[in-house]
Amino acid sequence: MTKENLNPFEIAQQQISEAGKYISLDPAIEEILKQPKRVLEVTFPVRMDDGTVRVFKGIRSQHNDAIGPYKGGVRYHPDVTVDEVKALSMWMTFKCGVVGLPYGGGKGGVICNPKELSQGELQRISRAYIEAIAPIIGPDKDIPAPDVYTNAQVMAWMMDAYSRLQGSNQFGVVTGKPIVVGGSLGREKATAQGCVFVIIKAAEKLGLDLKGAAVAIQGYGNVGSQAAFLLNQLGCKIVALSDSRGGIYNPDGIDLDKVSEHKSSTGSCVNLPGSRSITNAELLELPVDILIPAALENQITADNAARVKAKVVAEAANGPTTPEASRILYANGITVIPDILANAGGVTVSYFEWVQNLMHYYWSEEEVFEKLRTNMYNAFDNVYAASQQHQVDLRTGAYIVAISRIAEAIKVRGYA
Ligand code: GLU
Repeated sequence: MTKENLNPFEIAQQQISEAGKYISLDPAIEEILKQPKRVLEVTFPVRMDDGTVRVFKGIRSQHNDAIGPYKGGVRYHPDVTVDEVKALSMWMTFKCGVVGLPYGGGKGGVICNPKELSQGELQRISRAYIEAIAPIIGPDKDIPAPDVYTNAQVMAWMMDAYSRLQGSNQFGVVTGKPIVVGGSLGREKATAQGCVFVIIKAAEKLGLDLKGAAVAIQGYGNVGSQAAFLLNQLGCKIVALSDSRGGIYNPDGIDLDKVSEHKSSTGSCVNLPGSRSITNAELLELPVDILIPAALENQITADNAARVKAKVVAEAANGPTTPEASRILYANGITVIPDILANAGGVTVSYFEWVQNLMHYYWSEEEVFEKLRTNMYNAFDNVYAASQQHQVDLRTGAYIVAISRIAEAIKVRGYA
């Protein structure tokens, strides 16, 4: 057997071709969509706390802006690559397309290890990165947001650095900000909340009772921990969790308050008293009803997909399942709610935040979640209908919905 291709950029290109077959996608449009429109690579010096200067590398990929400004997060991670950022920017285009937001896709990354950086160093990196990419971003050009290992504080520094360059407050240049500087209520919980809304819809279609349903979550960061909390409130039993150091399993259910306490005192969920230690790989193969990969790319591959036992896989992470693994899961009757739908709640509330910034008028959390619910339910229904119509999995259905919309915009604008 040939080794499976795990390059996320090539995977994103394959996903376009796969969906394109069902809608007789114009070859010119397919070619346009298979490459980002612009990729900027920057290097910038940062003074470290010990007085030395280190040069960091940053990337911003702008995939497509046919429907609106580029939109997407910035990831801080030691393993960030250009191809990964390009793929993530493509997935943002389709994510915005599937939920019907007036945005295209963008993504950024800085190669660094935030776990080894002080707050001062992080602030200087964030400001320097934004200054380096400032010529190509802006509230109506490209709007960054949080992603892996970036948060509201990082967004505040980025917004401030850009505002200083412009000479006036530019709250709309970045989303995911703290509330006091133009953030939206509900943004922190939005990705997890959106994921839970589509899990509710999928469970309804499958006749799966969420009360007592066993859930395993890979990645206990912002999204994973919030999803655990929300699903717990719906009566689900969280039986397994993990972070970068490993995982824990208790078939009777894990007490999330104890996890929070343990995590704040030890920095990790591993070795929680009363649970069994498992690896991140073992977590994916547990006998559960719902599996939520909420960490990084390429977790479910051709090597382990046949051993996944969940009834529903909800992709809170971007790109956790390879194309070959998707085919195996589909053949085994497992419902995969694809990343571009399952984690679209984050960018949807980013959109709400940007709208609030542009009109200087702010909504209640209730209003935000009500609008989010409507958007996610509609998006799920559209994706489900496309998958039924073409007899394909939900991922291909989601791409069909997104690509049809973007292709129409590309056509009417006269590019193809
Ligand atoms: N980084 C998140 C994502 O991958 C959010 C992007 C945004 O809010 O613009 O969807």
